Amino acid sequence: MKTLIKNADITLTMDDDAQELRNTDILIENGVIAAVSNGAENADTVINAAGCVVTPGLVNTHHHLYQSLTRAVPGGQDALLFGWLQTLYPIWARFGPEEMFTSAQVGLAELALSGCTLSSDHLYLYPNGARLDDTIAAAHEIGVRFHPTRGAMSIGESDGGLPPDSLVEAEAAILEDCIRVIDAHHDASEGAMVRVGVAPCSPFSVSRDLMRNAALLARDKGVMLHTHLAENDEDVAYSLEKFGCRPGQYAEDLGWTGPDVWHAHCVKLDGPEIDLFANSKTGVAHCPCSNCRLGSGIAPVRAMRDAGVPVGLGVDGSASNDTGNLAAEARQAMLLQRVTRGADAMSAREALYIATRGGAEVLGRPDCGQIAVGKRADIAIWDISGIESAGSWDPAALLLAGPSRVKHLLVEGRQVVADGVVTTIDLPRVIERQNQLAARLADL
Ligand SMILES: [Zn+2]
Repeated sequence: MKTLIKNADITLTMDDDAQELRNTDILIENGVIAAVSNGAENADTVINAAGCVVTPGLVNTHHHLYQSLTRAVPGGQDALLFGWLQTLYPIWARFGPEEMFTSAQVGLAELALSGCTLSSDHLYLYPNGARLDDTIAAAHEIGVRFHPTRGAMSIGESDGGLPPDSLVEAEAAILEDCIRVIDAHHDASEGAMVRVGVAPCSPFSVSRDLMRNAALLARDKGVMLHTHLAENDEDVAYSLEKFGCRPGQYAEDLGWTGPDVWHAHCVKLDGPEIDLFANSKTGVAHCPCSNCRLGSGIAPVRAMRDAGVPVGLGVDGSASNDTGNLAAEARQAMLLQRVTRGADAMSAREALYIATRGGAEVLGRPDCGQIAVGKRADIAIWDISGIESAGSWDPAALLLAGPSRVKHLLVEGRQVVADGVVTTIDLPRVIERQNQLAARLADL
């Protein structure tokens, strides 16, 4: 099966030479980029990319897909992180398998429309029979590459934690289910469509033992580790008070640094912590809209990148953004660095690199994130003939002026979005179901 993307105006390859190619054809064979050239051979399927900019698919490194069912909840709209969580926990406690499946379809479809071909997810609560498998089934139907992580919370209110007791699990059961989902779904091979990670929710919702055991388990299984870290001032204060050290130290002590680890947010990392992450190649999922939305602060992404910390982007959960548009997130990342560091702090091209290849590196996917022969055919095609690009002198600077929704999207060479429409699921029906479920949750 050969697919040809024909005659793209500009191709931003994100390869090692940062090549930007003109009037290019991209030939795809069996899910892999077989040629990047001019005047390519015939193919079974031809996608006309004249009038378009072509980029690698965007990579989302942090999400809680289930939260797309609790967007803009009135009691949480203007609350800080801990108060926001306490508003939402009782609602999330009513979720079950169908809520997990439908909300994941909505979240992943929204991401796909904004150019995302590979998304991670952080699911850390499993009420009423919900399982990680529910979200994996949703991703499989849509056809996006998926890195779900088996999250967990084990310290409930009665033990001095934040979540209600009904949302926490016994630590032995958590580890057992991590093993189950890894054995059932994790694919370590090149081109894998599903990779599973291990992801206790945060240092303030699980014990020190679980953090340590999760790291041992992940290393034993050869999977990645993920959690929230140093999200805001409250988070750092909690670490100092309960653990007697800063979040970076806590992470390092428990085995939570290394190229197989990535942490969400890291807004409050200080200089030595940035050096620790750079030296250990520990990744960061930067979530600028969520950080703005919850008033957490501006992550020191410029300093992280300069030091050599791998940085990717995340839209974060749909209850703290409350949008799931990854292209818009990349623009926000660019703008936010400029707020503190000036207009030359981050270019549109660098922000797009972080959104594509940067994210692929954070998720341990050197086979994704760039348009080069031998890489997976995860490709976003952006129409620059529309109003968003009209008058642009540099259409390749997509994040300054350009569409935030794709025209076409290919994952592993298969078309998931065609002419701006998700082709793999009946999206209007899924949206209708999502709204029914949301109404039911609000009614209870
Ligand atoms: Zn999060």
